Formats: sequence, C-alpha cells, structure tokens
Amino acid sequence: MGEIRVLKTIGETRAQVLKYKKEGKIIGLVPTMGYFHEGHINLMRKARKECDVVFVSLFVNPIQFGPKEDLASYPRDLEHDIKMASKADVDYIFFPEVSEMYPERFQTKVTAGELSKDFCGASRAGHFDGVCTVVSKLFNIMTPDFAYFGMKDYQQLVIIEKMVEDLNFGIKIRRCEITRESDGLAMSSRNTYLTPDERSAAPQFQKSLKALSCEIIEAVKCGKNLNLNEAVNRRCDEILAAGFKKVDYLKIADAQTLNIISNFDQLKKSREIFIAGAMFIGKTRLIDNIVFEI
Ligand code: AMP
Repeated sequence: MGEIRVLKTIGETRAQVLKYKKEGKIIGLVPTMGYFHEGHINLMRKARKECDVVFVSLFVNPIQFGPKEDLASYPRDLEHDIKMASKADVDYIFFPEVSEMYPERFQTKVTAGELSKDFCGASRAGHFDGVCTVVSKLFNIMTPDFAYFGMKDYQQLVIIEKMVEDLNFGIKIRRCEITRESDGLAMSSRNTYLTPDERSAAPQFQKSLKALSCEIIEAVKCGKNLNLNEAVNRRCDEILAAGFKKVDYLKIADAQTLNIISNFDQLKKSREIFIAGAMFIGKTRLIDNIVFEI
C-alpha cells in the first residue's frame, strides 16, 4: 500500500479501521513497544501474509512497568522503527501519547488470572495486569481479526490467549516463533543495554535452556529418573559461570497450564514442556524459553 502512515489518536485510528471493515477487509494487529528488531519484523511479515491491512501499535506502556524498572530508559526511536517496519510493508503504526491511552482519571483495569502468578508475574507485580489492560484497549481500538504475539514472551502469549477466550474478544491470536541472533541469543530491544562483554556471554542462556531440554528428552527416552531440581541448579551455575550476575528464575512447567513441574513423575504426564528463565546480566534482565514435546 506504499508508505507507512503514523496515527497518533484513537479517533483517527478508529476512522481508518471503520473504513476497512466496511470494505470487508481482514485486519491484523501487531502490538509492540517499539525499537524494532527482526523478531518484531517477523511478526509483521506474518501479519502481512495473512491480512489485508496491517496495523502495528508502538506504545511503551507505563502501567506494565514496576517503579524500579526501565520505563524511562526503554529505547525509543520512531524513525528507525518506521524504516524497519517498511521492510514488512506495514500499513499503519498506531503511536499514541501516554495521555491518549491513559487520560486523567483513567481507572479501569483488566486483571490477569492464575496464569500470571509464576515466572515473570512473580517477579514483576502487576505487570500482566498492565499488559492485559493495554492489549484490551488496543483490541477495542483496532478490532483486528488476527493479532500477532511472539513466543519470546510465552507467558504473556498464553495469558492473552486466555483473556481473549474469557472475555470473548473474537480475535484469533497467532503465535510466532522466537527470532534469534546467529549465536542463539533471543532478539530483544533490551539487548541494546548489553556491554560488549555481556553481549558475548549472553548466548549461554539459550545454550543452557536447550541443553536442559535435551537432558530431559534423553531421560524420558531412556526411562531414567532425572532429578529436575539438580538439573536446573546445574544449568543455573553454568549460566552464572558464563558471566550472568543473578538468576531471577529458571523453571520447568506444563506448556498449556503453566503449572510448575517439580519432579519426573509430573513431567511424564505433560505432552508439551515449557522451560523458562529470567536472568540478570549486569543491570539487564533477559528472558528466554523453550517449548518442546516429549
Ligand atoms: P515488545 O516490543 O518487546 O513488547 O514485543 C512485541 C512483540 O514482539 C511481543 O509479542 C513479543 O513477544 C514479540 N517479540 C519480541 N522479541 C521477539 C523475538 N525475538 N522473537 C519473536 N517475537 C518477539
């Protein structure tokens, strides 16, 4: 459709959406916080393939950040983002001010449920309520047929899928694979925080997740009873030895329910396993995960 148009108000965005709806067009939405990398662009490419009109929202959502988190320093660069998004031939970037999304006296929130209790939800109080609230608003503003989310934030994805089901949004959520650097590091806007030393240590995170998943698959195959606690602790030590500063969490769960799996008998009852971690390297908190069938 040519050049990307940047829409700053909810009113003008709704007007565009209405026009396309009347024409019977399929609308795709890719919600983001910007500072695009290939991970974001792959979501947009998938949307481009499946939809007539592609909206990308670019909004650093203050209510999903904790008071000690990186809201102020989160990287922002609209010009860079427009250039990147044009590679995926996106039609619109919805780029509202905070006051447009949260005017004075804004007070209603969507609360995430059980699925938000562990993993990132345990270390980031209120984070997923903030995510569910902003995503609901974006869904109501753009009323997409399809919305695209990355498996990089797997817990978020599962929570959004449940929210769509529970609140009858009538939107199809499309899961997108994790896009990685050539050395395995999951792409993230926060990777720009890493010093050169931290950057070279960072790929160990994924290596250890992958090695743990292989250990589990191997043990299941051989009927060996792997002590999951010990296996997790060994991988944490390995990650710390590579130069990470602190383990926030490293956990194994059922990929559908996100229920924590703490021993091998429980593990054998799951069809699909989710191993997720959050690690501090210097001041930066990185997350990564692996989902696999056994
Ligand atoms: P963010 O801008 O970090 O909030 O991410 C916006 C969307 O892009 C979310 O659905 C993320 O899961 C997804 N995303 C971010 N990084 C990646 C990645 N490396 N691979 C796949 N999806 C990603």
